[in-house]
Amino acid sequence: MTADAAPLSFQRHLTETPAPTKTRERILTDPGFGRHFTDHMVAVDWSSDRGWHDARLQPYGPLEMSPASAVLHYGQEVFEGLKAYRHADGSIWTFRPEQNAARLQRSARRLALPELSTADFLESLRVLVSADAAWVPSGAERSLYLRPFIIANETFIGVRPARVAAYYAIASPAGFSFDEGVKPVSIWVSTEFSRAGRGGTGAAKSGGNYAASLLPQQEAQRNGCAQVLFADAETGTRVDEVGSMNIFFLTRENSLVTPAASGSILEGITRDSVIQLARDRGLRVDERDVLISELCDGLAGGEITEIFATGTAGVITPIAQVKSREGTWGRVDAAVGPVTRELRDELTGIQHGHRADRYGWMWRLDE
Ligand SMILES: *Cc1c(COP(=O)(O)O)cnc(C)c1O
Repeated sequence: MTADAAPLSFQRHLTETPAPTKTRERILTDPGFGRHFTDHMVAVDWSSDRGWHDARLQPYGPLEMSPASAVLHYGQEVFEGLKAYRHADGSIWTFRPEQNAARLQRSARRLALPELSTADFLESLRVLVSADAAWVPSGAERSLYLRPFIIANETFIGVRPARVAAYYAIASPAGFSFDEGVKPVSIWVSTEFSRAGRGGTGAAKSGGNYAASLLPQQEAQRNGCAQVLFADAETGTRVDEVGSMNIFFLTRENSLVTPAASGSILEGITRDSVIQLARDRGLRVDERDVLISELCDGLAGGEITEIFATGTAGVITPIAQVKSREGTWGRVDAAVGPVTRELRDELTGIQHGHRADRYGWMWRLDE
């Protein structure tokens, strides 16, 4: 199950029916999120006897699989999410993709799926983005969202790790996920449901974690909140994550606090980058246990001055209000805090190529 040593070489089968230029341009003016897909996809097959093989770029289209395919029954699946950005000179870049490659390997290990090497992962993105370069939008808050994933694809409904699997990468143009600019949201404290438990799959990026989050997310929406705040499964008192984002708050003493990576949270690449950028600004960053009561009381009493959530899709989302069955803390019409705004401007500035990339986080994709 280890990553193959020999690098894969991708065969290129280009589509004969790409989307007409007019259609593509119309989509790129208002792409939304996850609704439209580019002309091509990447596919690589894996079997326990052959390892990774048959790497190819092919026209985007439906997969053919047996109804007995293992992934449909037991959810043996892992995925990644990252973005391609068009810089002002037309070049196309992505952000810290070697981190996504490493995380996909960790997730695959946890789900007993084969690992794809970092070099093959990066090459798959280059192949896809080079073919679909015309789909990378330009402008602030615009990007091409890349979704690599691995599925168990053996025709077998016994419970054991599949001996056949496949890696795919698809791409979807993404516009701003918030209609009226960056606006603070409310979050709902889920007391009944947890996202992940000790020893579970919370630290892996796997579809099953998301399936488990949908019902509490519905409850959050019924209570007028955009996202659900998950507590730890053991005590129900500590903050884990917000929906599919990591959470941070700023104290009056200028400490930036985020829950420590305890095994049940997903260690975001945005989280890691924000920690670095915050330290560079002279903020003290504390990774530690955070009590939900600390969050609510701090918001009400002014000890906490800003809260935000981080993730590739929304980058940095300000949070102004926390709600639960017990009460409401903070005001949803509060202005976006200055530290939240500065960190967001800097991170998106680096990604879109108009702020200095001090750490070599950006990787060129179109050459
Ligand atoms: C992907 C994800 C994140 C954010 O990770 P990024 O690398 O910053 O995009 C946070 N929490 C969960 C549960 C996730 O799946």
